[in-house]
Amino acid sequence: MGTQSRNILEVLKERPIISDGSYVFVLEKRGFVKIGPWTPEVVIEHPEAVLQLHREYLNAGADIIQTFTFFASESRLSIAGKDYDTKLINKRACDLAAEIARPGNAFVCGGVSPTGTYTDGKGKAAVQEEFKQQVNIYVDNHCDFLLAEFFPYVEEIEWAMEVLKATNKPVAVTMRIGPLGDWAGVSVEDCAIRMAKAGADIVGINCQFDPDTCLKVIARMKDALDKEGLKPILMVQPLGHMVPEVENTYEGYFALPEFPTALESRLLTRHEARKFAREAYDLGVRYIGGCCGFEPYHIREMSDELKVERGFEAPGAEKCAAFCVNLNDSPSLKDMDSTKKKVGRDYWMNLRPSSGRPENPRLQELQGTLTPKPVVHTNPLNQ
Ligand SMILES: [Zn+2]
Repeated sequence: MGTQSRNILEVLKERPIISDGSYVFVLEKRGFVKIGPWTPEVVIEHPEAVLQLHREYLNAGADIIQTFTFFASESRLSIAGKDYDTKLINKRACDLAAEIARPGNAFVCGGVSPTGTYTDGKGKAAVQEEFKQQVNIYVDNHCDFLLAEFFPYVEEIEWAMEVLKATNKPVAVTMRIGPLGDWAGVSVEDCAIRMAKAGADIVGINCQFDPDTCLKVIARMKDALDKEGLKPILMVQPLGHMVPEVENTYEGYFALPEFPTALESRLLTRHEARKFAREAYDLGVRYIGGCCGFEPYHIREMSDELKVERGFEAPGAEKCAAFCVNLNDSPSLKDMDSTKKKVGRDYWMNLRPSSGRPENPRLQELQGTLTPKPVVHTNPLNQ
């Protein structure tokens, strides 16, 4: 799977790429990230935890190892109340990502996320200065490409793009939007066009909405881009939880009663992750990954699903469940009638998993409490 000596855009022209999954959610569950600030001090405090997660994603077949630098801008780190600055955290995160990615021939992605400076209305120069601080470190540490992700406002992406494009590295951008568009009321279609016109090589969405909703949104983006004659590579990294009832909200899964610590019953099965990878590929998406909730085993199934299209198997493919063909090898299970039918693609891909809670609220009830709302967050800069 040796690719990192090449430009990621060249590889994407030839085959789909599977990226890694969640860091914030996985490391929070493992006790290394604090809910609320969601900041990545763990790269300093417990680097071995970050290395291990990078290693698991690589073993699962990820082509990309992203620096764990989510919310590592100065304005966000100050919320966490720790004495680590952007430079220290970002440098260390680059070292950790490279330590795993380089021997595994994966790409290293340097990521930036929304700044508090933008939502505080401090203006373009101050926002761009925050991005510059992070991006300079990614350039000095030879990250292969840059990603601006999780943006609710397309305007902040346009400001970020000016900084990211100045590096001459490939640039990917994603927004955390659903069918209603960005938080200032810009439509899905206009967001896609503005991201592409700002110079993004790779355009898409991440987080907040489940795979089904994200695929609907990315299909609309593709139509709009096609009509404009714009041809960026499409990217999608959805939520790893099923949250259909929030499709027509701006907040997405933040609006759920279960957010953030009781979402487990909504977690995608590995087969649903596999189905998502196939549907995204069929839609024309070539950069396919996962956001909050996606763990290494989801990425491994996605890698397996697209192994023919990618031309190689994940290093950990040997242990892949692959529709439980090995259940019948189990001495204790092989004679059970229920085991005999639990084999094969049709069984697992068509399974409708239960939550296991006898009085689980029906989706229809929740949908009645989550009706579409007008714009819930206005951009202070436009007021
Ligand atoms: Zn996420």
